[in-house]
Amino acid sequence: MAKLERIDLIVVHHSASPLTTTAAEIREWHLAKGWDDIGYHAVCEADGKIVEGRDLQDFLMGAQAQGVNQRSAGLCIVGDLRKPSSSWTGAQIVSSREWIRAGLLFLGMTPDRVKGHRDAGTTRTECPGMSTPALRQLLL
Ligand SMILES: [Zn+2]
Repeated sequence: MAKLERIDLIVVHHSASPLTTTAAEIREWHLAKGWDDIGYHAVCEADGKIVEGRDLQDFLMGAQAQGVNQRSAGLCIVGDLRKPSSSWTGAQIVSSREWIRAGLLFLGMTPDRVKGHRDAGTTRTECPGMSTPALRQLLL
């Protein structure tokens, strides 16, 4: 699997699916597309559990934000922010915040290096259903 060139960006996604979605299901969707593995580096499930995807320690490139895959780490927080009934849980916000803060610290990056999918890369998307400033307010 291809390696990251560097990491200077953390890209945040929502799964655009119900809160009951698991990381294992998302992996199945991505395998069904013919990908080698789940596209994200981490998935935060509804109970706040962070499930590892592509191995960041091994510097594996994700398939999550076209245009910046070579240089970003991708976190998918399960849920669908377009629907109030599927918005992120408190537990997800707490553990995603921890994951992102630890990543920034480890990589020596400033909070402006966290972006929502729609503000990173070349894909036209609403993901994660929230502006990057609002996302930073929530998760940093
Ligand atoms: Zn996305």
